[in-house]
Amino acid sequence: MTVEEIKTIDLKDLIQLGEFDCACGKRHSLGVAKVVIEKGAVKALPALLEEIGAKKPFLLSGHDTYAAAGEAVCKVLADVGIPYAEYVFPISPVRPTEYTVGSALMHFDYSCDAIIGIGSGVINDTGKMLARATGMKYIIVATAPSMDGFVSGTSSMDRDGLKTSLYSTAAWGVIGDLDILCNAPMHLLRAGVGDMLAKITSLMEWKLAEIIIGEDYCEVTAALVERALNQVMNQAEKLLERDPDAVRAVMEGLLIAGIGMNFAGVSRPASGMEHYFSHIWDMRSLAFEDAQFEQHGIQAGLGTLYTLMAYENFLKGGYQPEWKRAEQYVRNFSLDDWNRKLLAFIGPGAEAMIEGENREHKYDVAKHKARFAVIEKNWDEIVRIIGTLPPSAEIRALMESIGFPTSASIIGYDDEQVKTTFTMTKDIRDKYVGTRLFWDLGILDEVADKTFTPEA
Ligand SMILES: [Zn+2]
Ligand SMILES: [Zn+2]
Repeated sequence: MTVEEIKTIDLKDLIQLGEFDCACGKRHSLGVAKVVIEKGAVKALPALLEEIGAKKPFLLSGHDTYAAAGEAVCKVLADVGIPYAEYVFPISPVRPTEYTVGSALMHFDYSCDAIIGIGSGVINDTGKMLARATGMKYIIVATAPSMDGFVSGTSSMDRDGLKTSLYSTAAWGVIGDLDILCNAPMHLLRAGVGDMLAKITSLMEWKLAEIIIGEDYCEVTAALVERALNQVMNQAEKLLERDPDAVRAVMEGLLIAGIGMNFAGVSRPASGMEHYFSHIWDMRSLAFEDAQFEQHGIQAGLGTLYTLMAYENFLKGGYQPEWKRAEQYVRNFSLDDWNRKLLAFIGPGAEAMIEGENREHKYDVAKHKARFAVIEKNWDEIVRIIGTLPPSAEIRALMESIGFPTSASIIGYDDEQVKTTFTMTKDIRDKYVGTRLFWDLGILDEVADKTFTPEA
């Protein structure tokens, strides 16, 4: 498969491939076997169950998602005489915690032989965890195209108060019934767009990471995800009318982003600095009673806008890689002080971040020096790649056109707190993102001030 081929292949044909040899030299697996996106797609469930030899599925849903699609699923199964067991989480909203997974497992019916998740974000993540724990095949009936985790083999969970990605079971089948998806809450449709917009910055950062730290990069995967992103952006204006083509574009885009992550074997194509804004806000909401949170995709969309603004200010600053400035900045950096700040702002979730640094040693002076040398050598290319990002105003206008929030004030964050969040995005995972580049250059605080401290 080449870049040219991936740009034109139909999603159906791609899924039929299962796996293929890529121009990047690797063999990529889709990670999902069946995808049905159409009106009335729920009716395909019995055939899918038959294909995996399942006689009695276990249905997992929440109050809202049961109302959205649970009845339709039960009716389809009852009509053809397929027995099932079910568990509807009694609390709302369901959060992706130890309690939720434990609760699902303790209500699991072991006479079942497959799991059907009915929902999107949290229900899907939990369903995949349950599938891994029980060793059963997993099908998701999507109730909203709100995030890109349908087909990934990991679940985004809150463990010990830390947002973490755990190995689970990728969905074998995905049902995207347009009758259901088009009626999803507008907020969740917007969230799906937000999780797609995140690909603008994550794809660019993937390229940066290839140059600066030699991370594996696959042009074919990047082209596939970029194509899905463009499709969503082109159709976005029709989303408010719940136009089936626009909703389909978002659902397909999110699936493709998930497939892209499966190709890469890491979340890189779909998640970068913009996602870490979201992770930090999620962790704060777990740690502090007054900290609010929003849908993953809404937070990721906000993070995308802030990330674009930061890169824009970096470009406007006309910076050059100056070793003197970088060295002095790093010399003045106190890891102990920084760790205290992380704990104070993020809460106990920061402990795992601090442990991560104890293993990774990204702040080591020698490692910094080595990275700086690479940055200096590739400076023009780095600036060129960052320059391929669209203007933040363009993305802001697109967000406004679909009623997408453009400020984290909707979850109670002021500029100063967003700035703090921004500076901490480099510490979430072992992933080279923009704030690491700015830190390496000794300009992180300058870029942060320019971006988040409005001129008095
Ligand atoms: Zn590849
Ligand atoms: Zn995401």
